[in-house]
Amino acid sequence: MSSYSTLEVGLEGRGRGSRHAHIESLLVQVTGAEAGFAVNNNAAAVLLVLTALAQGKEVVVSRGELVEIGGTFRMPDVMAASGAKLVEVGTTNKTYVWDYERAITSQTALLLKVHRSNFTLRGFVHETALPELVQLGRRAGIPVMYDLGSGALLDLGRRGLPQEPTVGEAVKAGVDVVTFSGDKLLGGPQAGLIVGRKEVLRRIQSHPLARALIVGRKEVLRRIQSHPLARAVRIDKLNLAALVATLRHYLDPERAWQEVPVLRMLSAPQEELERRARQLCGRLEEILRGTAETTVVETAAEAGGGSLPEAHLPSYAVAIRPLTEPVEKWDQRLRSLPLPLIGVIREDALLLDVRTLLPGEEEEVVEVFRTLLTPDTREIIT
Ligand SMILES: *Cc1c(COP(=O)(O)O)cnc(C)c1O
Repeated sequence: MSSYSTLEVGLEGRGRGSRHAHIESLLVQVTGAEAGFAVNNNAAAVLLVLTALAQGKEVVVSRGELVEIGGTFRMPDVMAASGAKLVEVGTTNKTYVWDYERAITSQTALLLKVHRSNFTLRGFVHETALPELVQLGRRAGIPVMYDLGSGALLDLGRRGLPQEPTVGEAVKAGVDVVTFSGDKLLGGPQAGLIVGRKEVLRRIQSHPLARALIVGRKEVLRRIQSHPLARAVRIDKLNLAALVATLRHYLDPERAWQEVPVLRMLSAPQEELERRARQLCGRLEEILRGTAETTVVETAAEAGGGSLPEAHLPSYAVAIRPLTEPVEKWDQRLRSLPLPLIGVIREDALLLDVRTLLPGEEEEVVEVFRTLLTPDTREIIT
């Protein structure tokens, strides 16, 4: 960021604005929710919501949705850290709405649904649909939370990608509070977003932990720094600025598909990828003649980042097969450059999938190979 930021400046009035007033208005516009705010990451968002709404009370979750994400986020552990009591219902493969209903007691504070961001269940399965759960929540007077994790804001299905639930759909279904990551399918910086009904959000925001997370009052922060919950710190201002910039693209979905790198890469048309791969291959061929063989190969790209677990997107790569050295040696050299170039090794060739290159980056790749082959620089980097 190379200019001033309006963080904590109230543009409408005089005086100090809240650091999340900007974020709230953007989140409301792009999700349709009544209210919203940002914390450090989605793990913090989930922890905060559970602590604020259900500490010392019971939270009902399906056995098929007790996820582990990225090794450190395990739903039962986060639940324990929040002081809420996990009430598991249903079975691994089937959970019906009456499973939730039967588990409701006077101690129930929340009905929780968790999106399986990084795995799928197939075969004889039944998942309680969100509207059913919302209906039950309304009837019983218990708020419904949806941890959406990967957090798509746009309908990926419309671009030929696997269908993912969107935040907007969840809001429309009437869920009280939705949590999701800023850096998965949303394509922004590390952040945790919380959107939902105003009165519920205000309850969460007025919890002492939220004040520390969001407004960052020093004395409160100090107090929680020594607590196991310290992992859940507020979003920092650079991430907040990046988040604002990313969410602004979503005000115009067409623009988001072009400008948000992850959406652009996921939706790149196959013909375009093939053309770009052939072009890059031609240029690398000239440079690498005599030292490596270059061809265009078909690949299946994966989304990664704990999203779209079963998507294999047909794509194209330039395959570089060194003639006199093992490919691992080239890979090592490319990885140790100041700006590392990371490919995939397959059948003695290094594959560079063009889906992962943003506009202008082909030029950088060509430049990397040009330098790599200059005798004196080669001494240095080997
Ligand atoms: C990724 C994910 C989280 C954790 O989010 P972070 O932003 O990585 O902290 C929590 N819940 C679900 C369902 C997720 O997919």
